[in-house]
Amino acid sequence: MFTRRGLLFVGAGALGAAAGTAGLLARPTGGSSAGPAAPAAGAPAHRLPMKPSAYRLQPLAGYGPPRAAPHRTPLRHEPLLRVDGHGRTLVLTFDDGPDPRWTPGILDTLAEYEVRAMFFVCGEMASYSPHLLARMADEGHVVGNHTWSHPLLTTLGRSAIRSEMERTSDVIEDAYGERPEWFRAPYGAWNRTAFQLGADMGMDPLAWTVDTLDWTTPGTGAIVKRVERGAAPGVVVLSHDAGGDRSQSVQALRRYLPRLLDSGYHITVPRRQYA
Ligand SMILES: [Zn+2]
Repeated sequence: MFTRRGLLFVGAGALGAAAGTAGLLARPTGGSSAGPAAPAAGAPAHRLPMKPSAYRLQPLAGYGPPRAAPHRTPLRHEPLLRVDGHGRTLVLTFDDGPDPRWTPGILDTLAEYEVRAMFFVCGEMASYSPHLLARMADEGHVVGNHTWSHPLLTTLGRSAIRSEMERTSDVIEDAYGERPEWFRAPYGAWNRTAFQLGADMGMDPLAWTVDTLDWTTPGTGAIVKRVERGAAPGVVVLSHDAGGDRSQSVQALRRYLPRLLDSGYHITVPRRQYA
């Protein structure tokens, strides 16, 4: 049987290129390449091939070792803060959702400009809106693990952290069709156990470079300004599509996304260097 996961495992490189991922490797880099960039002539929005519908895989019951995405993942001691790519590559990430009040508006804007993004979802939220994860799969977005209930991991023991992460990967696999390859600790509060469990489950830790602070509802204009001031090659932008009234985040994307594209930025999702 040909599953999408099987295809990815066999031909990750070729498929990644075909699916429009930038040829970039996610790895930590220094700050030297992060200078502000001057605007350039507009680049055409990237054409997005549609992924097939998500396969509905049933989670396996059992108490064995954590099930991992089909990749060997090194143990890290700090999260990745940016991506390493050629040219004006920039990654947009949206945390804490999905929320049926805000996530569809973000997906609509991304679809309008044929741009792919990352969604670090909470398992509990995903369990309420699995159709939004299926839509993310269909539209080529990357879904990462942001724990089940958004706790401060540094206050939890190993089994609780594992449960938070594993249940979330299970619900993502069920709704999105693949186990996640990326995770992000709530509040950016990582610890050794979280890194270990993430690696065991085949996930790389991704933090961010530019925080829009959109959760403070500073106004749409302030969010737009933070993105545009922070934009630089390899930058990972943090926004939210849940956790409160995110109408400013939805509106801000509508304003900054076309401007970033007009400035020559290639909005993409990271590709892992080992497959
Ligand atoms: Zn969060």
